Amino acid sequence: MAERWLLQGATVVTGDREHEDLPCGDILIEDGLITAMGRELRVEGCRVLPLAGKLVMPGLIDTHRHTWQTPLRGLGGDWTVLDYLAAVRVKLSPAFRPEDVHAGTLAGALEALDAGITTLVDHAHCIASPAHADAALQGLQESDIQALFAYGYAAGSEPSPSFPTPEHRFADARRLREGPLSSDSGRVRLGIALTEMQIPWEQSRAEVCSARELGVPITLHCSAWPVTGPSEVEQLEREGLLGPDLLFVHCTFSGDDDLARIAGSGGSICATPESELQMGMGFPVIGRALRAGVRTTLGCDVVASNGGELFTAMRLALQSERGRANARAGLPRRLDLKAGQMLRMVTQDAADAIGLGAVTGSLRPGKQADLIVLAADALNMTPLGHPRDAVVLQAHAGNVESVMVRGELVKHQGRLIGTDVAAVRQKALRARDAVLERVGGLSALLADHAKLEEHWDLGNGRASATSGTR
Ligand SMILES: [Zn+2]
Repeated sequence: MAERWLLQGATVVTGDREHEDLPCGDILIEDGLITAMGRELRVEGCRVLPLAGKLVMPGLIDTHRHTWQTPLRGLGGDWTVLDYLAAVRVKLSPAFRPEDVHAGTLAGALEALDAGITTLVDHAHCIASPAHADAALQGLQESDIQALFAYGYAAGSEPSPSFPTPEHRFADARRLREGPLSSDSGRVRLGIALTEMQIPWEQSRAEVCSARELGVPITLHCSAWPVTGPSEVEQLEREGLLGPDLLFVHCTFSGDDDLARIAGSGGSICATPESELQMGMGFPVIGRALRAGVRTTLGCDVVASNGGELFTAMRLALQSERGRANARAGLPRRLDLKAGQMLRMVTQDAADAIGLGAVTGSLRPGKQADLIVLAADALNMTPLGHPRDAVVLQAHAGNVESVMVRGELVKHQGRLIGTDVAAVRQKALRARDAVLERVGGLSALLADHAKLEEHWDLGNGRASATSGTR
């Protein structure tokens, strides 16, 4: 059973609409839940964490990351999305064995926790066999992070003897749903990541129906480049399949009509500004999505090319959108997009997007103690000014001193607890070396551009003068 904790004397950013921030507040945690918040709580018999000079806030929530790709970190600093697809999805993914998926997922989940991410949507689309699925799940479970394990239905670029048909994948997801992931209150829960909807529609529909039969949240890559046919959102709407259980990732080329459809259905969007801006996936949809009334969240996506923490994502999201609006205005009289909106995207709105809004995403009595402690006494946060804005505009992952998931301290005083980081590193390095050797080395990675059309509809591959930049 989790210990009783009293967090004492911190600046508390609650991220909660009904609970104001506290310039100097205490938080009582019992059985993994926040049971009281206020000034100078008087409680006996609990462990006290003195936090003068520190800032406590809800744990961050990353709603889109391919955690298995962690061993590929840094390979794609200059990749476009076509380079990424050729290198990672076509070439490298089939070279990942279960032990490599495990090493990557564990290292990536720990990286996220270390950076203050207490909840993660792991878009796990490197599942070539049941053993791959088990390995990814095991990596998440070993890390102590809270996660939606979004089981990827994508078939990969090479045939899988374990999964000759899509139905074999559905059956494997059901195996997990009826076994280790049968609970919707576990620390790791099941979700489904759909194949990109550039396959026969009958299969896309079957994937959605499979997920709905399992009763789990669904996520999908959506409109990340211009395609020739109807959009994913249009197809889903035609069949009456839109719903609040859908989390659409990217939507950079979604028209305003599609955004209105998502808003009307109660679905959510995840923008991944760093990978979108780099790789040529259009302009992040954030400003348009918010104006359309869509719940909008942020993800790190791909550490093969970019960073794996959400402070950078918040800053990029905010300032790129402001930059675009300001450039249009000339000399703007006000900034429409507020820093505090970014914070909400990576906390409460992200929790709502994956059906966890009642249990996590903000600090209030009755919710899980998923929280982080930032060194607000560090030079880059001194003086603190407006605490909420400082989290978005001044903080970085190095300021994350302590992390608590469900009332369990998993990082304290700058160190992950109970984790042999050196051993995790070694496993990730071995995985990197092994997969690169299997594909014939770095020079072979970009050789398969010609095969991309076999797997994806790349449309005309070009934006019109306005699409994606609205
Ligand atoms: Zn992705």
